[in-house]
This record gives sequence, C-alpha cells and structure tokens, in this order.
Amino acid sequence: MPTTPTADTFFTRRLAQKGNPLIIAGPCSAESEEQVLAVARALKAAGQADIYRAGIWKPRTKPGGFEGRGTAALPWLQAARQETGLPMAIEVATPKHVEEALKHGIDVLWIGARTTVNPFAVQELADALAGTGVPVMVKNPVNPDLALWIGAIERLERAGIRDLAAIHRGFSTFAPSRYRNAPTWAIPIELKTRRPDLVLLNDPSHIGGRRDLLLPIAQKALDLDYDGLIIETHPDPDHALSDAAQQVTPARLQEILSELKYRYRSS
Ligand code: PEP
Ligand code: MN
Repeated sequence: MPTTPTADTFFTRRLAQKGNPLIIAGPCSAESEEQVLAVARALKAAGQADIYRAGIWKPRTKPGGFEGRGTAALPWLQAARQETGLPMAIEVATPKHVEEALKHGIDVLWIGARTTVNPFAVQELADALAGTGVPVMVKNPVNPDLALWIGAIERLERAGIRDLAAIHRGFSTFAPSRYRNAPTWAIPIELKTRRPDLVLLNDPSHIGGRRDLLLPIAQKALDLDYDGLIIETHPDPDHALSDAAQQVTPARLQEILSELKYRYRSS
C-alpha cells in the first residue's frame, strides 16, 4: 500500500518531526477535571502521546446513558493543555460544537462515525469549519461505505480545510464477530490507495471494543503502514462512564506501545 502522505499538513508535520506513528490518547469521555488532568499528566510523563483526545458530547446509541459533560468540560481541557502542552482534540457533531470548541482553544477536532454517515451534517460542519484553519480528523462512517467516507473528506476540502486525517474505527455489523466494529481492512486500504496524500490513523479501541484486542489490531495497522493510532486511556477503565471494556490505563498504554513492532519510514 502506498506510504508517505504527501500533503503538508498539521498531521504530516508532526509525523515528520517524530517519525511514525502518531499517537493520540486520552479518555473516551472527559468525566471530571481530576480525571482529565490525571490522564494528561501520565501521558505527558510517558512522553509518547502527540495529541490528547477526550469526548465531551457523546453520541450514544440509546437515550438515558452518559452523554458527556458538554461545554463545562472545555476549561478542563484548556487546563490540561496549559499544564502539559499537549494539543487537545474533541469530537464535534454540530456547528455549535465547533463554535464552543474554538472559543475554548481546542486544537484539533474530529467528526465521529455517526456524523460522517450524514452528508447534511457533514456539510454544516464543513461550512462552520471554513476559514478556521483547525485540523480535522474524519472517522469512517458506521456503515462500510468508502464513498461516504471520502465524500465527507471532500466536503471539508471544498470548504478549504487542508489539515485533514482519516480515522479507521471499524464498521457496524449484525454478523457475529470478535470485534465490536468489523475492521474490514480492505476499505481503509482502498482509501489509502486512492488518497495516499491523507494521514490514516487506526482506532483499535472502537474496532476491538475489548482491551485484549488493542495490541493485535494496532500491530496489524502498523504492518499496513498506518500513520498513527488513537487509543482510549482512562485512569480507572473498569469504572469509566463510557466504553469501559476497551479503555486502558496510561501504564498499560505504555506497555502496548512498547510491545508493538514499528516499521519506520525509510525516507
Ligand atoms: C469515540 O471516539 O469515543 C467515539 C464515540 O467514536 P466513534 O465515533 O468511532 O463511535
Ligand atoms: Mn469511545
């Protein structure tokens, strides 16, 4: 599969600075200021994370679950950034989210799998993001539709957004599977073939849905020359308010990262 992304973007510049892969880590959801800061401090001390992730508006399948702390969590991320210098990334699903995020100095935004499926929602986000210069990551849609994924990326590009990355987080399936979301590797491989200029990241947390699957999924992604990983990290994963089964402590993240076999770029 074609390798080095060619575009000059926020993501490719970071890749060039450190070599492969880019590591994005942090909790599924920002739950409290203490939790946000505890993870940020641990990641900073370990020195491997390039970007901090946390969800503050959570797209839940069913009503009644934990839907995120919302805007109240943005100052916690600002504090974590201030203390650690790590760029902060959150999911946005509406123009209002974009406005709030940028008002609070969030560095990177991502579009979640349940939003990428909807061209109207993506277009509204593209319009809201136009001219902001903020880097954006686009998760694959929940359904295995490469055209929809590329279409979402193109909507952002048409709005003048150049700092883009794609995140492979797997695809919903009714078929029995060991995975929470089927990886269907052919789809991201085809994306990379058609768009070698784009940074492609792998999300083993949402593909696997289980801690023990993080390492084999991440290894496969690196073997396929992905540019980085986004892994959910929580101080007390079993008691996480969302995605408890797939989160790992910062210490376990370190072990996983050291157990992975890396193929560094040759040029
Ligand atoms: C998440 O990253 O926590 C999330 C909700 O992801 P996805 O959109 O991949 O389900
Ligand atoms: Mn999650």
